Amino acid sequence: MTFANIIDHDRQKKILRLALQNQRLAHAYLFEGPEGIGKKLMALALARALFCDDGEGCGECPACRKVDHLNHPDLHLVMAEGAQIKIDQIRKLQQDISLRPLEAKVKICLIDCAEALNPAASNALLKTLEEPLPGTLLILLSAKPEMLLDTIRSRCQRLRFNRLSRNRLAGILERRLGLSEAEALVMAALSNGSFKQAFGENRELYLEQRKKLINSLISLSSGSIFPLFELAQQLADDKERLAEILDIFQSFYRDLLLLLHGRPNSELVNIDLRETLYAQARNERVSGLLKKLECLDLARLHLQRNVNRQLAMEAMLMAMTAA
Ligand SMILES: [Zn+2]
Repeated sequence: MTFANIIDHDRQKKILRLALQNQRLAHAYLFEGPEGIGKKLMALALARALFCDDGEGCGECPACRKVDHLNHPDLHLVMAEGAQIKIDQIRKLQQDISLRPLEAKVKICLIDCAEALNPAASNALLKTLEEPLPGTLLILLSAKPEMLLDTIRSRCQRLRFNRLSRNRLAGILERRLGLSEAEALVMAALSNGSFKQAFGENRELYLEQRKKLINSLISLSSGSIFPLFELAQQLADDKERLAEILDIFQSFYRDLLLLLHGRPNSELVNIDLRETLYAQARNERVSGLLKKLECLDLARLHLQRNVNRQLAMEAMLMAMTAA
């Protein structure tokens, strides 16, 4: 991953490149912004540029390859073990960076999901930030920077990463994945500006299965209990993707609300299902749609609390058909 391969984030790229050229990199950076929009890729591009002989990250030399495989001896990656980054991990990191670099001129420490640093680990890391060792670069990545200690944040140079707008991401998806304009807009809206989701395994779910799921949902009625149980079973079985499926249902009801409020088509997520939406909107009222959206929220809560999935889905669908 070189700077040139990174889609968007031009401002951040420029700042880092300039600092690199002028040898004015900070001792520590905090890359902050939502999950899945390329913070880690940017950090790895910076690592490549620093380790590679050509100063840009050629992608071919041994140093670049080692960065790509995350096995460069001077690149130290710290990630949460379980839900936390623990003090032992930071102590190990401090030991590692107290030694000279093995192959490169600098050592880079990447702390992913830095908000997972527990209090003891945070305080230990603070020592390193307060007394930076020459030839060490720390990069903290976080989607929740407000959870970090103030003192950690203030000792890092902060670089904010934003989600891509729907139209921008859709344009990129059209070119890179060869999607139609409508498909690209749907994908961009459902992946919420996240590349990870847009380019990830949800493509089939968002483009193909979404239509079937929405059709199954609207064909339910309070009198048809058997199809309801069947759909509940199907959803419960799709454990890995259930959160995304509930997002799809939410997008559908939200679209209907927008239609009832006379909003323009360009605001719809399911832009390729306009006919279905218009037909369905005739049967819906605002109050009923709001109730259905509440049912979805409640189902999410149940799933978080490990309520039996099948039961949670049955309860959700029953309440939605009655709404
Ligand atoms: Zn290289």
